[in-house]
Amino acid sequence: MSGLGITVSCTLAGMAAGYLAARRLSSKPLSRHAGLPDAATPHLLPDPALEWLRRAVGALGVWAIETKGPGQGARIYQSLAAEWRAADAELELIEERLSASARRDGEGAERLDAGLLLTVSAGGAVVAALLPSATTQPMQVTVRSDLAALLDGIGRRPVLHDLAQVQDGLAIESVESVGMRLAYQVERIAGAEAYVAALEGTGVRVIGVSGLADRRALGQILRADSALARVARGAEPETSSGDPLGGSATDRRRHPPARVSPMLKQDEAIGGVAWRVPDGGLVGPEAAREVDEAIRAATPRLEMALRLAAETDRAIKDPLTGLLNRRGLSERMSLVGPERGALISLDFDKFKLLNDTLGHAAGDAALIHLARILEEQVRGVDCAARVGGEEFLLWLPGTSLEEGVQVAERIRVRIGTGEWDWQGRSWPLSASFGVAGWPETTRSKENLATQADAALYAAKRGGRDRVVTWSSGMSASAE
Ligand code: GH3
Ligand code: MG
Ligand code: MG
Repeated sequence: MSGLGITVSCTLAGMAAGYLAARRLSSKPLSRHAGLPDAATPHLLPDPALEWLRRAVGALGVWAIETKGPGQGARIYQSLAAEWRAADAELELIEERLSASARRDGEGAERLDAGLLLTVSAGGAVVAALLPSATTQPMQVTVRSDLAALLDGIGRRPVLHDLAQVQDGLAIESVESVGMRLAYQVERIAGAEAYVAALEGTGVRVIGVSGLADRRALGQILRADSALARVARGAEPETSSGDPLGGSATDRRRHPPARVSPMLKQDEAIGGVAWRVPDGGLVGPEAAREVDEAIRAATPRLEMALRLAAETDRAIKDPLTGLLNRRGLSERMSLVGPERGALISLDFDKFKLLNDTLGHAAGDAALIHLARILEEQVRGVDCAARVGGEEFLLWLPGTSLEEGVQVAERIRVRIGTGEWDWQGRSWPLSASFGVAGWPETTRSKENLATQADAALYAAKRGGRDRVVTWSSGMSASAE
């Protein structure tokens, strides 16, 4: 289950990116009392990410604010619960708290009269949830991690914005908002718990769960032999199953069998829906027809969202490791954010020798191995990128030079101590690191990469398998 947090994070991030891209298409910022569909842009989603998050965690309100970045002024997006009769003074107080959070990175919690306000901020962007005062500690932890994921999604907005302009006039919806909307729709129609899954590459991933369903399934890659995965990739037509997710996430309550239907684009399956009424409830033929209709209506939107997601990935990701590529990284770094950060440049030692001895396929496997280490060693707001054959960059926004050096050292030790073998033959891996810090080593973020590379070069010259911090004299041109 340890990977689940990450997958869920990506899921919510995807929603946020889709949402914000959509919102950017309308020229004006969201009006104060939002949560209502915007009549001026009827083809755009009203507010999927924020609203889903608000509902999922039972918040009174959820906000996302960008105080900097492209365009003028702050943009405020919000979703407020209908049952919360917010006074203007309360909303103003919250907005004031949020703009204060925007000026520093990190997490905050504050008890207000209206409830408990949780904030997470980075890069001049803030996301926040106002929870009922009685919210339990574990729930607060969950909400925090969802907020962090939402914030991460905001960071990915510029790429989607580009695509949005290419796809002029079409709704920009993320895969997850299609999935979540459909799942909730099925639940509303039939009183059923519902799971929606999409075929992505060769895997089938859960992209939507309704309120009655087990939320932990969201983002999971289904076992290939599960009923929902088989139907979603067209290996089986409509079916019914007592365990549609293949036990990968379902709880052990006793349920009637679920109906599992494909989402068909012409005759080709691109996803599927599993749904059932808990505790032996019945579904009339009318409701069943309505569910089928909802599935049919969502299918072209899913197809569009999947295509968009694949395009986005191609533009900003390295296909071998799945990390960001140089473009993806520079987009992240160009987001106006906290006025500090550390950049780590790293490069495998004697990689040519590994390739020459074990073969190119072994080299590729080692690169993927390193990418997984990088992902596991950094926080959600950090960015790991593969920017050359065996060269990687790590951008740690809001991090001091000293902390950056510690992260690099931790990764260096992890690479050296983790076992790695190729077809049973063990091989020692090591890498060299250069670290630069803004504002510690340079007043300009643009110089970080040159400095980190110069420090990396010094690490190589100094004997490899080490971390070197940039210092003046390494390269005259770097500062
Ligand atoms: P150093 O310790 O100085 O970094 O030595 P090195 O051998 O790692 O450095 P060098 O830059 O000389 O060699 C890099 C090698 O990385 C060359 C190339 O064979 C290999 N390489 C680059 N891209 C890929 C890739 O995508 N897959 C594999 N398997 N190898 C790659
Ligand atoms: Mg190398
Ligand atoms: Mg190299």
